[in-house]
Amino acid sequence: MSVYGHGTETAMRNPLDILGNRLLLERLTRDVRENSLSHAYIIDGKTGSGRHTLALHLAMALSCRQRPNRKPADSGQMGFFDDLPPEPLDPHAPFPCGVCEGCRKVLEGICPDIRIIGREGKATLGVDAVRRIREDIYLSPGDIDTKIYIIEDAETMTLQAQNALLLTLEEPPSYVLFLLLCDGADHLLETIRSRAPVLHTAPLTNEELRFCLSKHKRSLPAEELETVLLCADGCAGQALSLSDPKALRSLMKLRSLVDAFIEGCANRGSGGVSSAIQQFGSKRDEVMGILNLISLALRDLMLLKKSETAVLKYYTQRENALELSAVFTAKALLSLYQALEQAQEDLMRNANVRLTLTQACFSAGIM
Ligand SMILES: [Zn+2]
Repeated sequence: MSVYGHGTETAMRNPLDILGNRLLLERLTRDVRENSLSHAYIIDGKTGSGRHTLALHLAMALSCRQRPNRKPADSGQMGFFDDLPPEPLDPHAPFPCGVCEGCRKVLEGICPDIRIIGREGKATLGVDAVRRIREDIYLSPGDIDTKIYIIEDAETMTLQAQNALLLTLEEPPSYVLFLLLCDGADHLLETIRSRAPVLHTAPLTNEELRFCLSKHKRSLPAEELETVLLCADGCAGQALSLSDPKALRSLMKLRSLVDAFIEGCANRGSGGVSSAIQQFGSKRDEVMGILNLISLALRDLMLLKKSETAVLKYYTQRENALELSAVFTAKALLSLYQALEQAQEDLMRNANVRLTLTQACFSAGIM
C-alpha cells in the first residue's frame, strides 16, 4: 500500500484534462456536491479507459475548497481546512477547481488521505493487502474528511481477499471511500457488487482521442495517426503510449512486415511470402506478435467478403483492404487463418520459426 504517486500510473495525467466518461463525471461530482456518495464504487473498464483519471477527479472533488458542505477532518487532527477561515464559494468557479490547495495536493500526489493498493508485481491481489487496509482504516483522515482507498486491478483479488474486503464494506467507518478499479466487474463477488455501484468507463471516440493526442503535442503523419487510433481502441492511455516515437516506430515496422506477408500471399508464386517470413526473424515473442497481427488482418479480409462495411481491426484504409480481400477466395483466407493458428501452437512448443511458417503456407496452398 502506498500513498499514491509513487510509480503508479495514477500520476500520469491531470484529471482536469479528462475526456470521455462525462456522464460518470457529472454523476460523481453531483454526488459530492449533495453529500450522497456511496462508500464504495467499482470503476470498470479497460486499461487506459480513464479509470484512474476518474478516481483522481473524484478525489479532487472531495478535496476542493470549492466543495459545498466541506467539513474539516474529524478526530481533532489539524487539517489544512482548519487553519483557514471559511471562504465564500465562488458560484462561477469550476468544480473541482484544480487550483486550490486541496486540488493541488491531489494533483501533486501528496494528499495523505489517498491510499493506492496494487498487486506490486504479483499475479493476484492477496488477502494480506486487504488486511493492511483493515488495520489502516481506523486511523481517521488528516487533511480532508474522507479517506480514499483506490484498489487497482480489483478483478485479480483472491477469493480470500474479496471476502476480507467484504467485511469492511459491510460496516465501513463513515469517512471511508473505496474505489475498486477493475477490468471485468463480473470477476468480483456478487456480494461486493451489491454494495458498490458499478461505473463503466466508456471508450473514447476517435475525435476525443485526436484531441487528447493534440493536447499532448503528439502530431503524427496521417497513416500513423490512423494506426494509433485503430490500435488504441478508445483508450487514451493506449493512444498516448502507442504514439511515443519509439513505440510507434516498432508498431509501424511490425505492420510493414504483416503487409509484406499478406501482399506475398496475394501474389502467390512471386517469392514474396518466403522473403517476408525471412524478415520476421527468429525471436519467438516477436514472431508471435506478428502472427497475431496477421490473424487480425485475415479476420478483416474474411469479414469484408461478407460485408463491405464490417468494422476493421487491422486495416486503416477500407478501399485498400477491399481490393486485397477480392484477390482471395473465402476458402483460401480461412485455410491460411487456420494454418497460422496451428503454426502459433507449434511455435509455443519451440518449433523452428521459418520451417513452421513455410509449412503452414504450403498446407494452406499459398506457396
Ligand atoms: Zn479546488
